[in-house]
Amino acid sequence: MAEPSCRVVRHGTTLMSPVPSSIESGVPPRDPIARLAAIRHEFGEHGGVNLSIETSSTFTVLEAGRLPDIFQGRSGPRGGCFLYGRHFNPTVMALSRQLAALEATDHATCTSSGMAAISAAILSCCTTGDHIVAASTLYGGTWALLHEFLSQKAGIETTFVDIADPDAVERAFTPRTRLLYTESIANPTLRVANLPSLATIAHDRGARFIVDNTFSPCIISPRLHGADVVIHSLTKFINGASDIVAGCICADGPFIDGMYDLHVGTLMLLGPTMDPRAAYEVATRLPSLGLRIREHSRRALSFAQRLEQLGARVVYPGLPSHPDHALLERLANPDYGAGGMLTVDIGSADRASRFMEHLQNAEDFGYMAVSLGFSETLMSASAASTSSEMDDESLAKAGISRGLVRISAGYTGRLEDRLDQLERGYRAACG
Ligand code: PLP
Repeated sequence: MAEPSCRVVRHGTTLMSPVPSSIESGVPPRDPIARLAAIRHEFGEHGGVNLSIETSSTFTVLEAGRLPDIFQGRSGPRGGCFLYGRHFNPTVMALSRQLAALEATDHATCTSSGMAAISAAILSCCTTGDHIVAASTLYGGTWALLHEFLSQKAGIETTFVDIADPDAVERAFTPRTRLLYTESIANPTLRVANLPSLATIAHDRGARFIVDNTFSPCIISPRLHGADVVIHSLTKFINGASDIVAGCICADGPFIDGMYDLHVGTLMLLGPTMDPRAAYEVATRLPSLGLRIREHSRRALSFAQRLEQLGARVVYPGLPSHPDHALLERLANPDYGAGGMLTVDIGSADRASRFMEHLQNAEDFGYMAVSLGFSETLMSASAASTSSEMDDESLAKAGISRGLVRISAGYTGRLEDRLDQLERGYRAACG
């Protein structure tokens, strides 16, 4: 074995090795949790069962000549050499490997927030004068980034389309379109994107296909349906404790490597770096992700069924009444359900407020708060909160009414008690 040129080569491993069953090399395990389990366990520095937190922002080398080598990309984390925390950190990279396995991509990188992941990935694909086709229903922050920020600051224009209409998607492409962008399950309308068909449209026109999979980790594996880049806000289901803001970008090696380029790389130059302490926390919660998602889904389905029995206008992709129910059954990995998110249209902003206030203050059913994927149930009126960046016309087009309440189903308490609370809340608002 060659003499190490850096101080540390932990366990002699290459930290950026591809997941064992990468898509290119054959048949990856279909199940995301099986893929996660198939990669090497990341032990702590002294053989601890948990990953170590490497807190250093800078790393030493044994020979002065090694630094330019790392700077020029001739040597680096693949050989166990680290340089500076904004570039690479062993703890963050260990989490990235796990997320790459989860999403069946060769590589991944973690960021300080979901928005950091989204903006860095988009700017890696597009430059001034380029054009994006995007779903008309997206998280409000992403919508604002595409609608206003990128067009004003970078001259990158976006056309928003109903992605359930393939003809409209095709018509929206121009010779300058570099990117098709969607959420796999849309926030907050819960429409499911037909990923294979959208991937074909994008690839036939030489564009990249980016999918935000924040609402459906484990449930949908967008890479297996043609996505080039899969993004998560780790802040939500993947971390699951509502105590960390974080994100990730899962993609092939060249795409991620390009983001680290010293001269034009968006990760290198915009610096949306994840703190290693956050990486450690997220990594310790990843092993329970499959269990949590199953329970979120089971509870959300029960909530949706009870609301449907009450005659409510409830939207949940696991209900046969959902327009994309059959599509989700085709796309979804078995055994993780249809996700933890549902919406109910209570008819007006006032009624939506009464519904949420009763459920929080009289029943202790859940909390009025934005975000999702927490152990407790969270409720928000999307038009007045997480989609408030959208103008009235865009809200109407996307089907986001003022009475629409988004519910992220938690898993605390007895389900039977929660269902009774939910029913009382609905009757209090609508009775
Ligand atoms: N993507 C989706 C679907 C979201 O719902 C959100 C936030 O709510 C984000 C991205 C942004 O994530 P973050 O808040 O971690 O930046």
